[in-house]
Amino acid sequence: MATKYVYFFGDGKAEGKGDMKNLLGGKGANLAEMTSIGLPVPAGFTLTTDVCTEFYKNDRQYPAELKGQVDEKLRQVEKLMGKKFGDSKNPLLVSVRSGARASMPGMMDTVLNLGLNDKTVQGIIEQSGDLRFAYDSYRRFIQMYSNVVLEMDGDILEHILEQMKESRGVEEDTKLTAEDLKELVTLFKTKVKEEIGREFPDDPQEQLWGAIGAVFGSWMNPRAITYRKLNGIPAEWGTAVNVQSMVYGNMGDDCATGVAFTRNPSTGENVFFGEFLINAQGEDVVAGIRTPQPINKAGGDGTLPSMEEVMPECYGQLMKIQQILEKHYRDMQDIEFTIEKDKLYMLQTRGGKRTAKAAVKIAVDMVKEGLISEKEGVLRVEPEQLDQLLHPSLDPKAAKDVIAKGLPASPGAASGEVVFSADEAEEAAKIGLKVILVRVETSPEDIHGMHAAQGILTARGGMTSHAAVVARGMGKCCVAGCGDIKVDYKTQQFTAKGNVIKKGDVITLDGSTGEVMKGEVPTVQPELTGEFGILMGWVDKYRRLRVRTNADTPHDAKVARDFGAEGIGLCRTEHMFFEADRIMAVREMILAEDLEGRKRALSKILPMQKGDFLGLFREMKGLPVTIRLLDPPLHEFLPQSDEDIEELAGVMNVTAATLKHKVEFLHEFNPMLGHRGCRLGVTFPEIYDMQVQAIMEAACELVKDEGYQIVPEIMIPLVSEVRELAILRANAVRIADEVVGRYGVEVEYLIGTMIELPRAALTADAIAEEAEFFSFGTNDLTQTTYGLSRDDAGKFLPFYVEREIFPNDPFVAIDQAGVGQLVKVGCDKGRATRPNIKLGICGEHGGEPSSVIFCHQIGLDYVSCSPFRVPIARLAAAHAVLLEEQ
Ligand code: ADP
Ligand code: MG
Ligand code: MG
Repeated sequence: MATKYVYFFGDGKAEGKGDMKNLLGGKGANLAEMTSIGLPVPAGFTLTTDVCTEFYKNDRQYPAELKGQVDEKLRQVEKLMGKKFGDSKNPLLVSVRSGARASMPGMMDTVLNLGLNDKTVQGIIEQSGDLRFAYDSYRRFIQMYSNVVLEMDGDILEHILEQMKESRGVEEDTKLTAEDLKELVTLFKTKVKEEIGREFPDDPQEQLWGAIGAVFGSWMNPRAITYRKLNGIPAEWGTAVNVQSMVYGNMGDDCATGVAFTRNPSTGENVFFGEFLINAQGEDVVAGIRTPQPINKAGGDGTLPSMEEVMPECYGQLMKIQQILEKHYRDMQDIEFTIEKDKLYMLQTRGGKRTAKAAVKIAVDMVKEGLISEKEGVLRVEPEQLDQLLHPSLDPKAAKDVIAKGLPASPGAASGEVVFSADEAEEAAKIGLKVILVRVETSPEDIHGMHAAQGILTARGGMTSHAAVVARGMGKCCVAGCGDIKVDYKTQQFTAKGNVIKKGDVITLDGSTGEVMKGEVPTVQPELTGEFGILMGWVDKYRRLRVRTNADTPHDAKVARDFGAEGIGLCRTEHMFFEADRIMAVREMILAEDLEGRKRALSKILPMQKGDFLGLFREMKGLPVTIRLLDPPLHEFLPQSDEDIEELAGVMNVTAATLKHKVEFLHEFNPMLGHRGCRLGVTFPEIYDMQVQAIMEAACELVKDEGYQIVPEIMIPLVSEVRELAILRANAVRIADEVVGRYGVEVEYLIGTMIELPRAALTADAIAEEAEFFSFGTNDLTQTTYGLSRDDAGKFLPFYVEREIFPNDPFVAIDQAGVGQLVKVGCDKGRATRPNIKLGICGEHGGEPSSVIFCHQIGLDYVSCSPFRVPIARLAAAHAVLLEEQ
């Protein structure tokens, strides 16, 4: 049997279904689904994603069967509508719409009113009795077709339209007369011929196939490629094409088009939310050509009448449909609708993009409403998304110089220097500048700049404008439709209520209130209560993996505990050595001539280290704390400038020249692979002895005097050979037991090691003889497995990732095939020797969702990550369990 490439939908029946997104794309599958549940959807058909795949495989040729199948479905639509494509009496007009599997808002192009030419337009006039409408549709068609299919710069015809409006003295295109529009059609066609060197295609069949080809072609256009890259959508998925009979929102004041969300996409509130425009078509609402009106009183500020007021019947019907859709899809929907002569049509539905705040609230509310289960609620929030919630918002007590107010399109706070183009934003971000992208409105071409900017400010467009939708998807702060500002690209500045803001000036945006402020406004940490707390409660119920934090100070420890950390997985002691009040003693220790000198200096450091550990243990209130003994090469602590060397020489009572010589002597060619980690402990045992003593004295004191339960975990870094660990373990045990004996209390402790060298992973069975726990240091393990230094990788790693030589930056997401395999080998061998060995990971990967899921799969006990990523890791750990169940 021949492959079926085309699927029909219309009049309550559809060949496709909602779960056929892979084949029909998101839009096509949902059009089919909406049709079959009885919603009013204009009839049409979908060309499958297989066509796209075949098209690219066969050098941009369609499968042979396609033409016949399209003709057949077109006839079916004609029959249903009682119209004929290309007919001069009663012509069928169609839209040609792209639709990939995952929704890609605004990325692919749509052509409306296709099938119009000088003959068919007469049929439209005859049928509608509306000359103005007929020519408005015609001129729109030429505009869209020449832009999307003929690849003409959209500004060229837009400019002619602007000139026409100017000469007629009108502000809006709805004020142009039928004669004006008819004249525009002629002007447009002449211009198109001038630009492309041939006539605008009049033959509807040619138009149709031109548009289909353009949609398939647009799958590989730069902005679609950028969007896919940013969102991890594979190129192989392909897009589908939908051909659908037109309904007209531009036939007069009993017509309209609009966009709505079944719940507020910004806050998550369960309030139907949307915008519409009377006498408008297609993208008019999102493009921001006029300020859209709210669909209901709840969503507006009272200045513009709502659909609820001006079209109460249609509103009532829309309200019912949105409820049906939400129940049916069991998720918040983003819908498009058009009203033709007081009759409502549904043109699209899809899962709505939402901010993290909204995602959490909607998930929790839907569980409470009984619409979804707790587990589904947990899976509805993407771990990475939580990042948005954990970041600061504007300090309510700070002074604010508000210069303008727009729509609160995407929440959060952002400060930065003003730039006026996406390219500039990208350039500036490359050199580490924080910028705010200011545009009259954004378009899909601006995606890369929106990505690079801290926040986005637009003068035009509503809550459903391109800028607003994309910013929310990116979790980026955005103020849209800020009519208070006048942007002038030429002079590179904008004005707002008498203020002139130039390129490079700093402004602050509050995406939750819509306020635009001069200068930088201080921020405060968010409160994590309410729905967030409820969701995290479910998360903790379902996850198996524990989540600890990497923290060196009591302050970090507190932040992490508030975020739900269940212990410290990595406390780096070297940060403590750098503190101003002790760096001198540390340097003295390093540069001492002999053991006696070293011990003298170490005895000065001991009480300070003990103080550090007391603080940390107190903050963690009995939760496990893993302390890593000194790791970096010693020369990192040494003075480099002559001034500092002289000062230290004075303290140590030696000459500056001697000291300088010593500093040079400690220099290493490749410190990452040099005299560091346990190699220091083996050659200068007194350093680790002091640290173990400080750890154990702090623990004993708290247990004895303050009644704490503490089991310190002493961790030895950079072991490659079990004998290193055997020596250091024996030393540590001797010191620890001495301290415990001296205090006369019962304090248990564990001694373990980092597994961060390939040799350690491969000999983990032997190492486990001496270690009660392993912590996989995946930063160093990644460096040593790949044989690359992270500090030097900047010169080539971005290129590798860009060219997809490496699928990801291996320092961000763990390389499962290589580094991950070593971790797995290390786990298996460790457990073979010591079945109850504690296993964790403390690299940066511990807070990256795909890596966390991997850690769950290979059976680690915990991950440890930076404090702000603790909730992300918790959620990812729950996803790991729930995805396994699916
Ligand atoms: P996008 O993927 O960018 O949202 P769409 O294919 O949904 O593009 O179409 C763009 C606009 O055109 C939408 O507002 C949609 O509602 C409108 N539209 C598409 N097809 C039709 C149609 N057959 N009749 C009326 N309006 C349509
Ligand atoms: Mg759409
Ligand atoms: Mg390390």
